[in-house]
Amino acid sequence: MTARKVTASSKEIQKVAETTASDRPRLAFSYLRVSDPKQARDGRVGLDRQEESFLPFCERHGLIACPDALVDKGRSAYHGTHRKKGALGRFIQAAEAGQIPEGSVLVVDDLSRFSRETASHSEELLHRLWKTGCALGVVAELDKVITREVYDRDDYVGTVLDRNRRMVNRDSAEKARKISDVWQRRQRDWQEHRKPYLGKGARPEWLSDDGSKFTEIEQTVELVQRMFKLCAKENMGGTQIAEILNAEGIKPARSDAYGPTRILRILHDRRVLGEKEWPDGSTSPDYFPRIIDQALWDACQEAIDKRHENKGRHGRGEVIANLFQGGTFCACGRALYLQTGRNRQGQVAYSWLRCTGRRKHTCPQSPGDWPYDEEALLLAFMAQRWSKFFDRPADNRQLRALEKTLRELETLEATQQQQATNATQNLDDLMASPDLVQELASLYASSAKKATSNAAATHRQIQATRAEIAQHRVKPTGTDVQRQIKARVAEFMASDRHDVVERRRFNNWFLSLGVRVTVLDPKFSRLQWGKTDSVIYRDKRGDVISDETLGDMAGLGFSKEEIAKREAAIRREMAG
Ligand SMILES: [Zn+2]
Repeated sequence: MTARKVTASSKEIQKVAETTASDRPRLAFSYLRVSDPKQARDGRVGLDRQEESFLPFCERHGLIACPDALVDKGRSAYHGTHRKKGALGRFIQAAEAGQIPEGSVLVVDDLSRFSRETASHSEELLHRLWKTGCALGVVAELDKVITREVYDRDDYVGTVLDRNRRMVNRDSAEKARKISDVWQRRQRDWQEHRKPYLGKGARPEWLSDDGSKFTEIEQTVELVQRMFKLCAKENMGGTQIAEILNAEGIKPARSDAYGPTRILRILHDRRVLGEKEWPDGSTSPDYFPRIIDQALWDACQEAIDKRHENKGRHGRGEVIANLFQGGTFCACGRALYLQTGRNRQGQVAYSWLRCTGRRKHTCPQSPGDWPYDEEALLLAFMAQRWSKFFDRPADNRQLRALEKTLRELETLEATQQQQATNATQNLDDLMASPDLVQELASLYASSAKKATSNAAATHRQIQATRAEIAQHRVKPTGTDVQRQIKARVAEFMASDRHDVVERRRFNNWFLSLGVRVTVLDPKFSRLQWGKTDSVIYRDKRGDVISDETLGDMAGLGFSKEEIAKREAAIRREMAG
């Protein structure tokens, strides 16, 4: 027998809502639930089985089936998450708010779909449903629409419901308890005997074991460390790191190639720090061997956050034609893009940096293009006085503030530790005395516990502050950055400048500096770099000249005439 599809349109639902209760045809809502998201993905077997029984049930009981089922995937009825968060919770709320027509029936395949919680909880759920004038339809075993009247009148229904609820809940409770027992035992083994659980599924891919403790898989550890360095030091994202590894033919376990998700999962995995998170949410430090130090971890997380803020800066696989892409701007404030023209042979004949505002004629500067001379740009970049730009006295202020916080925290921790010691001492004394006052003992015990946990919290704050201070101290000074820029540009110029990966690395590094290059006057080739302002040109011999005198003269208060004179002199030199 095939089921005739009876479904209600929203108009019908409206019509039903408007008729009186007694002669109202009843609506049926199918409620489907699978607790394991995998169960929902893998061919939907669980869901299909539940759904199949719905239409015949509606037909047998004269119900109008609503076309869309309520589905809770990955919600457990045992913990009651389906009631609190999922579609079932929303349905009951909607019913309580009067949005579901009275007399409607919520249909489940079998009772376990409705609730696996304790009997009293599922009883409560049923009462909430009845209170809104709705009923529960149960297909398996009962094949009944259960209203409050049916429940009260029909002893058999009551018995089945009760038995089912208790049985179903006991099964689930046992399963959940078994799993949590195992983990509690493993957690205890660690806390009391420093014995880690070495099971293969419970350790990260870079570790193996020698039967009693974890051992590092050297090659994989090095690879993970490299991922962190590429992210923190080269400012690369998951896509770029994956590309590099795949280009080198490095393959992950059980897969052909690295993808960005897998890389990011590793970069966010606190197990590299040695931390173990238990199913109850608590963590144990030093459980695994630590393979990434705190500074590198912090730098990496910061780089990821920053990348996240600048999402869409440039896409994957893009050739960096303008080496300074993302950091070159027009005097009007818009970004510059590289315009290239090719000759008939397909070779690049010219390239210009052009304001993006020119396409729509919205650039008020109308200054024309700047002929892109990459080598000149690199040499000028190297020659700028970056030390001035990167010296930030504000950092020292912040460092002093952090040091003050640290001193205060250390004082606080000492006080809290003393409190804990005192309370423990009092408790010990009390226990030893013959006239033990129970109330006092529990007061001392709880204050000792509180003081200890306060001290531990302060200690964590102290560690975080210390790490932050250390980070501030290693922040380079202006002179360091100046030196670093010189070295990095020189290294790039010595490499194959057309290599795509090299160009991208350079561009990433350049953007991480946070420097902007603004073309103030393209015809005169006057560029603003951070705080310095220079005219870039090539002299008669083709050497690149970066002339900063105009900017300096303006800063030193020279007169307009004197500056104009100097400008004319530069123009003469440029003309050769
Ligand atoms: Zn512009």
